[in-house]
Amino acid sequence: MKKLFIKTYGCQMNVYDSARMAELLAPIGFCPSDTLDDADMVILNTCHIREKAAEKIYSELGRLRQQKEKRKLTIAVAGCVAQAEGAEIIARAPQVDIVVGPQSYHRLPEMIARIARSGGQALETEFPALEKFDALPNDASPGGVSAFLTVQEGCDKFCSFCVVPYTRGPEYSRTVAQIEAEAVRLVARGAKELTLLGQNVNAYRGEGPDGKTWSLADLLGRLANIDGLARLRYMTSHPRDMSDDLIAAHRDLAQLMPFLHLPAQSGSDSVLRAMNRGHSVAEYRRTIDRIRAARPDIALSSDFIVGFPGESDADFAATLALVRDVGFAQAYSFKYSRRPGTPAAAARKQIPDGVKEARLQELQTALGEQRAAFDTNSVGRVLEVLFEKAGRRAGQAIGRSPYLQAVHVENAAAHIGAIGRVHIDAVFPNSLKGRLVAEHEKAMRH
Ligand code: SF4
Repeated sequence: MKKLFIKTYGCQMNVYDSARMAELLAPIGFCPSDTLDDADMVILNTCHIREKAAEKIYSELGRLRQQKEKRKLTIAVAGCVAQAEGAEIIARAPQVDIVVGPQSYHRLPEMIARIARSGGQALETEFPALEKFDALPNDASPGGVSAFLTVQEGCDKFCSFCVVPYTRGPEYSRTVAQIEAEAVRLVARGAKELTLLGQNVNAYRGEGPDGKTWSLADLLGRLANIDGLARLRYMTSHPRDMSDDLIAAHRDLAQLMPFLHLPAQSGSDSVLRAMNRGHSVAEYRRTIDRIRAARPDIALSSDFIVGFPGESDADFAATLALVRDVGFAQAYSFKYSRRPGTPAAAARKQIPDGVKEARLQELQTALGEQRAAFDTNSVGRVLEVLFEKAGRRAGQAIGRSPYLQAVHVENAAAHIGAIGRVHIDAVFPNSLKGRLVAEHEKAMRH
């Protein structure tokens, strides 16, 4: 067997893609390795979201060139930087053998055979998503207790700061049958929780078994019938696609966890317009109200960008007001940074970095306080925790609450893979600590 090392950058969709690439290459003699040191092939599965993403990959490729000068090493670049840079990588980095975009990686075996046969470099950056999912192997590897499953890819929304529509292509949904079959396989291999992934997952419109177009709510309802599947989640959603049936699913489906990541990006209408988000602040607030009416305990998460071109002090204050009014259980916040090729990168009114930094600090302080308040509210409550893995201490297990909080529990290792009732005792910056209810009750009796 040859050894394959995959370095994954970015989001959960890349984590999913990396696992699928490993499965794809197993039949042609590659087994996964945790280290580059003894690898015969390395795949950089790249992400284009962060600033200077492409330059960072070129630096990494420089380091890999030194390795390749010492030994035989096949180097592949996959993911969104591969898609965005394409032939530029081939030109700038002759040590690279393969450049493959996120919608073409099912062609990896054929590309490896091609370069073995005739040498040179291979490049595939088309968008044949349909073909990709048909070509991927069916024997999904164990995804663990909590597994990811891509149901939708690509984006038609064209937010003015984002490269995804260019790197992942147009919106595409897999069929219900394909997803259900993969879900059943994952559950048979031990998954108790599935997170359905998509760049715009709630824009899911896949062909159902009746030949009609099914929504994400229809799909979730179908998957909820799988025996042994205890929990369902989905991400990432767009506010415009929070349809009535999806909101109702949060009320009606016991398996659908009370957690929703719904990026707001800004609390100012003029910034949202400049971002081409396609919704107003009032619409976002109304959507949150509808969701909370359906599922009052839902934990909300969001993304925010500060310092978007043209963002005034008043615009930023409106973002802080939105945060204050909604109350988020957690959120991600970033300073705006230019992505080459996107409309916002060419905008004239770029915000100085010092201003962006100050706004980010203020926003993160507010979000941090909300997170701490949400977590502190859990103390004294009993939450159902799905135990996923062993902790650092002997007997300790780590799991997730319904609200996606990490929970550490002593003497719970025997429960890994199962859901336990946990009394929450304490809060740490990034996790909760609790005891199994039986232990808590025993301690109370003494
Ligand atoms: S909806 Fe999301 S993926 Fe699509 S362009 Fe906007 S930020 Fe990017």
